[in-house]
Amino acid sequence: MVNSNYVNERINLCYGTKHTCKNINYKIKGKVDTKKVGTYFVTYEANYKGKHFKIEKEVKVVDKKSPKLVIEGAFTNVCPNGKVKDVKVRASDNYDGDITDKIEYKISDNKIIYKVSDSSGNTTRKEFDVIIMDNEKPTIILNGDNPIYLAKNEKYKEPGYVAIDDCDGNITEEVIVTSNLDIKKEGTYYINYEVTDSSGNKNTIKREIIVIPKNNYEEGKTYDKVIYLTFDDGPGPYTEKLLDILDRYNVKATFFVTGYDDRYNDVLKKEYEKGHTIGLHSFSHNYGLIYSSVDNYLNDLLKIQDKVKRYTGFESKIVRFPGGSSNTVSKKYAPGIMSELTNKLNEMGYKYYDWNILSGDAGETTDPNVIVKNVTNAIKENKENMVLMHDIKPYTVDAIERIIHYGLTNGYTFAPITMDTKEVHHSINN
Ligand code: ZN
Repeated sequence: MVNSNYVNERINLCYGTKHTCKNINYKIKGKVDTKKVGTYFVTYEANYKGKHFKIEKEVKVVDKKSPKLVIEGAFTNVCPNGKVKDVKVRASDNYDGDITDKIEYKISDNKIIYKVSDSSGNTTRKEFDVIIMDNEKPTIILNGDNPIYLAKNEKYKEPGYVAIDDCDGNITEEVIVTSNLDIKKEGTYYINYEVTDSSGNKNTIKREIIVIPKNNYEEGKTYDKVIYLTFDDGPGPYTEKLLDILDRYNVKATFFVTGYDDRYNDVLKKEYEKGHTIGLHSFSHNYGLIYSSVDNYLNDLLKIQDKVKRYTGFESKIVRFPGGSSNTVSKKYAPGIMSELTNKLNEMGYKYYDWNILSGDAGETTDPNVIVKNVTNAIKENKENMVLMHDIKPYTVDAIERIIHYGLTNGYTFAPITMDTKEVHHSINN
């Protein structure tokens, strides 16, 4: 038997008659590997009185143990195509090891019969009662968002889907997609995904497509329902992504820019080319520097104004103070400076804009959902909805599309700040 302890048999080699037999020394040649099934030959050889003796013996190592079939799970039903669900079957053999891949099964007369044979031909068979049926419908999984928002006339790109059936496997190719989408008209549409498995079980799911009007801003026109999206502290690494989103909906915004990072000079140019307003925030954004004296502030302001002009050709006189005109931080550096600066800017023909809606992205939250909520809850009719945001924050960029959806579906116009825009001012605290 395989794996048994075979010891080469001792033999008595004699010379002479039965009674006068004398043991002779002999040599054994050949080895029996009891770990390996097969036929082995062992020879016994001896020399005695000038004669040569040789005896050959055949040793067979055999495997007579049947493999084990292990069933995991309970049988309820099997698919009409023979697929077995929810049950795992493994086979192991004392000699061959794991022979799960050798398992065969067949289904007949509401029975499933498993059979597995090892390499020595030892076979194990197990039989179970089953019900052959398939009444489970396939599952359809949609990639991408649901609903999807589209700006009017924006092409719909299907983000894809997968259909899986318990019996048939992946049947994505069988999915029939129909839709009543008309991108030329605002409204709510549906894309229907329908799939039927080979037993006739059908599933349908829908994706909602909301076509919203593009922003329709005209310069010089005033709006009762208006939103000014303002982005401070950029341009930065997320600004281009933001510009692309704004562009899709033709939304115009205002960027209150800084000037110390030359890596984004091209983005600054792009902001202007896309029709957004470039406002002056600060070249250095260094509170200790700009709020230590009126001269320092003005030098810094002229520096950012120059930079904007150099990259866009636009001479901006639209300002936002770092921290807003109501900041108290500046008290630390120069008491009374905010009163002086606001008067000074006024004299110089500049306009400064604070905000009346906080998105919360300046430290309160990093969650785009909270930003969306903060902004959409605060937007009101007959108000200069001036939203403070920062394009250097990735979560703000992630929130922006939903804010745009809210505004456009509720009849608001997104406008950039111009010199005609009514100033939104905080009260001065220093
Ligand atoms: Zn700032």
